[in-house]
Amino acid sequence: MDVPLAREWVTTIARAVADQADYLTQLDSAIGDADHGVNMNRGFAAVVAALDGYEAATVGDVLVRTGTTLVSRVGGASGPLYGTAFRAIGKALDSSTVDARAVAAGLRSGLEGLQKLGAAVPGDKTIVDAYVPALEAFEKNLDEGGTLASASAAAATAAAEGMSSTTAMQARKGRASYLGARSVGHQDPGATSTWLVFRSLAEVTAAASEG
Ligand code: ADP
Ligand code: MG
Repeated sequence: MDVPLAREWVTTIARAVADQADYLTQLDSAIGDADHGVNMNRGFAAVVAALDGYEAATVGDVLVRTGTTLVSRVGGASGPLYGTAFRAIGKALDSSTVDARAVAAGLRSGLEGLQKLGAAVPGDKTIVDAYVPALEAFEKNLDEGGTLASASAAAATAAAEGMSSTTAMQARKGRASYLGARSVGHQDPGATSTWLVFRSLAEVTAAASEG
């Protein structure tokens, strides 16, 4: 991954959350306060504006700026959580070009930052339930000789499965946890936006590998 590809990833996420904003908000209306799409769309629109004309020397510069913007511009729980994750990913990628192994290590740092802040574990019906399987699939694909593109594709598939698995879960973190057992039967909005993050990574890395 190089600086232009990192920018492509983030702008692709911004397009995806804009396209899916109503869907994310609809999911949040069932078990939250109906603002997840609004939060994500506002945050990533601000990220696109913050990256416009920004001279990034490293992949990490792009991703740290993304994270900082999300932390400062998104009011909901998701802003600090995604913001912290992107800042941690960026801090790990302190170079103008990084290989797939480095991206895996960066994604792992992002998960650690997210979990340190939010204290969610798999099964709590959060972002973590899409992120953990995505990261594990990414690493497994590389262990099996995969590329950045194939690992990202595997991660996107696993994120989608993780997202779907949240429907059966009872929320133990965030607003949805106030609903107790009534949170069961609804797909988690944050796990859904995490799927969009990994799907976007798969899209841009596939396009880059085709040249
Ligand atoms: P808010 O809950 O403040 O309205 P959003 O609606 O933007 O914020 O985001 C809600 C999403 O945030 C949830 O669907 C869940 O996936 C995620 N979330 C909430 N708390 C946590 C946490 N502690 N760790 C990980 N993800 C969390
Ligand atoms: Mg909400």
